[in-house]
Amino acid sequence: MKNINKIISQDIDQLNLLHSYQDACSNEKFRKYVEKLPIEEEVLIKYTSSLEDAYQEYENCKKCKSLACCKNKIEGYCYTPKKDKKIINFSYIACKWNQIAMQENAYKENLELFDMPIEIKEASLKNVYTDDKSRIPIIKYFKEFINKYQAKENPKGLYLTGSFGSGKTYLIAALLNEMAKKNTQCALVYYPEFLRNLKSSFQTDYKEKFDFIKKTPILLLDDIGAENESNWSRDEVLGPILQYRMQNHLATFFTSNLTLEELETSLATTASGVDKVKARRIIERIKQLTTTMELIAKNRRN
Ligand code: ADP
Ligand code: MG
Repeated sequence: MKNINKIISQDIDQLNLLHSYQDACSNEKFRKYVEKLPIEEEVLIKYTSSLEDAYQEYENCKKCKSLACCKNKIEGYCYTPKKDKKIINFSYIACKWNQIAMQENAYKENLELFDMPIEIKEASLKNVYTDDKSRIPIIKYFKEFINKYQAKENPKGLYLTGSFGSGKTYLIAALLNEMAKKNTQCALVYYPEFLRNLKSSFQTDYKEKFDFIKKTPILLLDDIGAENESNWSRDEVLGPILQYRMQNHLATFFTSNLTLEELETSLATTASGVDKVKARRIIERIKQLTTTMELIAKNRRN
């Protein structure tokens, strides 16, 4: 008797499932949607409610024009059924707009920022101001750099000096983003903060950070000369980093409000005294690694 009751109740459950499935299929579009799925009806009928959700998201996607217009529960994803033996698994699959966006943003994985604003990853050569002539030789240099880099000719980086807010950081970041799009790893380092950070990581990941900066294929040391000079930062950090990069022909860029002469004076004077020879040695390495250019333009900062 127990078994008969069980069988009857199973049949009633089956019947209820079938009814709600048939009800849902009275919507012509839903019916067409489920018919197209490579799943048998006997499996489909167990998932009517989830299939209706998936159908709704599928319909939203059909009409959708961009990620910003997404009407689905999770932006950029479509709730989608997939048969797995005798059951259906539902998962969120990236929509076409999301896939395009992911491809367009993939280059950002090649960019490592140290204390730089995240928006710097959006800087692009296409958007560089050309309303005055001061950027033209720099852009020309960039084009040569890109060609030579791709031809594995180890082009020199730039020491870009110039007035505050003229767009030095933006320009070099735009080039490095372009290189990241060509699948080269780049690091953009706000140098004064990086030094402070490095100093406080003696007990932790000092070596990791130091080695990363030393070895990254393309490096920007942003705002060099704005840091508080010490013998340590000059002789134990900057010196060895530049030495390694010089020996290994790794492209290195600098931006600074100081000219190389001014940087030399700044590097010579630390709290421990004046050491012109050590400062000179650093400047020689920078000269080996870079071509110097100047950007004098109006201050773009608000
Ligand atoms: P610098 O490094 O010379 O002090 P920045 O590169 O920081 O100057 O530029 C100053 C401001 O102007 C920043 O907010 C930067 O994002 C903006 N900026 C500079 N060049 C451009 C550009 N071509 N397009 C958009 N914004 C720019
Ligand atoms: Mg800057």
